[in-house]
Amino acid sequence: MATVGFIGLGNMGGPMAANLVKAGHAVIGFDLNPAALEALRAAGGKVAASASDAVAGAVVVITMLPAGEHVRDVYLNQGGLIEVVKGSGPLLIDCSTIDVDSTRAVTAAAAEAGLAMLDAPVSGGTAGAQAGTLTFMVGGTEEAFACGKPVLEAMGKNIFHAGGPGAGQAVKICNNMMLAINMVGVSEGFLLAQKLGLDWDKLHQICATATSNSWALSNYCPAPGPVPAAPSNRDYAPGFAAALMVKDVKLSQAAAESVGSPTPLAAQALSFYQGVVDAGDGGKDFSVVFRWLAGQTRA
Ligand code: NAD
Repeated sequence: MATVGFIGLGNMGGPMAANLVKAGHAVIGFDLNPAALEALRAAGGKVAASASDAVAGAVVVITMLPAGEHVRDVYLNQGGLIEVVKGSGPLLIDCSTIDVDSTRAVTAAAAEAGLAMLDAPVSGGTAGAQAGTLTFMVGGTEEAFACGKPVLEAMGKNIFHAGGPGAGQAVKICNNMMLAINMVGVSEGFLLAQKLGLDWDKLHQICATATSNSWALSNYCPAPGPVPAAPSNRDYAPGFAAALMVKDVKLSQAAAESVGSPTPLAAQALSFYQGVVDAGDGGKDFSVVFRWLAGQTRA
């Protein structure tokens, strides 16, 4: 069992840290939000007064932060984690979804300080984080992957080695781009069905066993009703915030541009999620794009 320093205890990091505690690891966490610290304490973890305090003595450091700027800030700034832990040599694992450039910058700085680092973004949403069934897509060396896998297994069910540094983020960006498009597709289908006088429960029952089935339809159905546990039944409380989806689709667009890959549907989907954010619903689950679309009238 390892001593784990865990930075970023939000919708995902909170339950992930709690699962590490459940598996017998000693978890010392830090978050800027006092409520997140209280939740870790209630789950049996220890809380620290700063990120540096949380990682002192850690064998593994895990970060679960919103975006690349936060990850760079926490690891690279003066007094950042790499400087703090370079003498003690823990394995660094960043589980946030961030741009490949930030991942490479932090991984390179870690290597320069003699530290191994994995990029290990996740899929499975807050339900997967709570149940400990996340999918991890991991980039890094074989040795670092072998070292980190037992710790990741306490938080996830499927742990994939995607390739070298940055490969985990690359897989994650492609996954979320596909999900973003898919959620818009499901939303359009349920809206059209309503206009055609169909019952959402009946539509769901049929499509869940037909060719339109998907994770978005089965687990996060954007129309309220058919999937009781979906965010659509709790006024779109996240879940996965629309603002984070905007971030991820932007990452996919920047990556696509850099390699000249065509992504016209993702570009269109991005404009919809941006519309959601502009309408003040960036903190709602991304499936709220259904409600936003319902408010658009066809020209
Ligand atoms: P969140 O906003 O709920 O949590 C992020 C936490 O980081 C917050 O509690 C915030 O206070 C904390 N934080 C920010 N800066 C900090 C700092 N300098 N020091 C300490 N704490 C700091 O976000 P989330 O939903 O948990 O997502 C985290 C990451 O996981 C994102 O990159 C997101 O894209 C990714 N992700 C989220 C989901 C999901 O369903 N929510 C699914 C897969 C991946």
